[in-house]
Amino acid sequence: MADSARKHEGKDAGPPDPEHKCCGVVDEAVARSRTRRERRKQRPMNWLVLKLAVGITVGIIAYSTYVYVGRLCVPMIRRRADAPGGRGLGVAFLVVFCVLLLMLLWSYEKIVLTPPGLARDHVQKSERPVLESTTPAWWDAAQDYSGTEFQYVPPPQGEELQREMEVRPPRAQPKRLSAGTHTDEDGEANAGVTDAIPPVAEARVAHSTDSGTLSPSSPSSNGHANAQSSGQLKQQRPTQMYTRQPQGAPVLLPAMRYCQREEFVKPPRAHHCRACGTCILRYDHHCPWIGQCVGARNHKFFLIFNEWTWLFCVWTFSTLMASVIRTAKRQHGHVDPQKIVVIVFAAMFAFFTSSLIFAHVDLIMHNQTTVESLGVRRMKDAEKRKLSRMHRWYEFGAKRRTRQQWDAEWGRIGCEGNLWWLGSYRANWESVMGESILGWFLPIGHSPLDGLSFPTNPRFDAEGRWRPRREWPQELQ
Ligand SMILES: [Zn+2]
Ligand SMILES: [Zn+2]
Repeated sequence: MADSARKHEGKDAGPPDPEHKCCGVVDEAVARSRTRRERRKQRPMNWLVLKLAVGITVGIIAYSTYVYVGRLCVPMIRRRADAPGGRGLGVAFLVVFCVLLLMLLWSYEKIVLTPPGLARDHVQKSERPVLESTTPAWWDAAQDYSGTEFQYVPPPQGEELQREMEVRPPRAQPKRLSAGTHTDEDGEANAGVTDAIPPVAEARVAHSTDSGTLSPSSPSSNGHANAQSSGQLKQQRPTQMYTRQPQGAPVLLPAMRYCQREEFVKPPRAHHCRACGTCILRYDHHCPWIGQCVGARNHKFFLIFNEWTWLFCVWTFSTLMASVIRTAKRQHGHVDPQKIVVIVFAAMFAFFTSSLIFAHVDLIMHNQTTVESLGVRRMKDAEKRKLSRMHRWYEFGAKRRTRQQWDAEWGRIGCEGNLWWLGSYRANWESVMGESILGWFLPIGHSPLDGLSFPTNPRFDAEGRWRPRREWPQELQ
């Protein structure tokens, strides 16, 4: 950009033209600031900024403790006239609060001090591997799989796939039903963005032909004979105009897992965190409240920390609220503003942590990370759009039946269709949280995950492509 600005300036350097010169200067300044901004984005966050929220969190906990103990429990225990409840209740409040506070601090210390696992500690720097991938025979055979109206999009191969790995804006292109030319350019193969289930290319769906607009090269529009066989197939499978179309990128190959910033092949499921400036094993997300990432080795403690924070907040909120209401009734509307501040904090964090608990219990049960779940979400959304093209909006039963048919042919999205699915919710849960029930609630032990290698779902091929049910191993049929 800076170069082009300079060239531009050089070309017009002949006659003195203040307007052009001015433009050149502005262009160059804009380009320079953009480069600076991009370079700043690449740099990891300053350590102090990264850990700032940890200090804020400790401050909030300390302030809540002062208000709860000093302004609620102590007046109750001293039997002050303005305190609600008696001495016994005050002691009970104090004991429960102290237990919850200790658990909160213990689990917080554990999540803040347990690193998620850094890829750079386990892998050597290397050149980017050459991508060598061949489309399996079953993938090609999928063309006949759902009758002539199945919109087959062949997976990208060789150089095309290598090209797709470069970061570029997604481009939608109409797809044709021809097995010979492989022109997948939806840009879904970037392993740095999606891992387990990169989304089905939305463009494929957008350009999927329906029965009226099949491409001229499609077999079903080639004449009466084909039209007849198409009609027969239609009778057999009245709703099978589309089928589920998982992505065909070989996400497990080393070439698909290369980190350009750190120049190494990262382990499966690892991703680069911009804030931390490094690749995190089984990257889930960057959490500012703990000042680091949630990854393979601390995901378990993240959930446990949320559990105790939620309990602490619910207890603090409900008891303080009750005391404020009681005091207000007795003393004609007198309210302690400091208690109100803590009530607001407690309500906010109780809501926040409860939604996190729901989300992460669901993620762990499905053996997905937050990043991977985004791919699943996109795939489900694409399927919803596909269904709404096949059926009218009120045909809920038909939509459900079609989805069931696809599930029968492929397995469920996010379950059998998840590269990391271990066979059951329990197996997924234990692979992250461990087998000890005590370890699901107390911040003890360590995560069973090493973050370096993961068993893969046998419903996928060796390169990470989701296979239809008929291609699954015999024992899973
Ligand atoms: Zn990296
Ligand atoms: Zn991070």
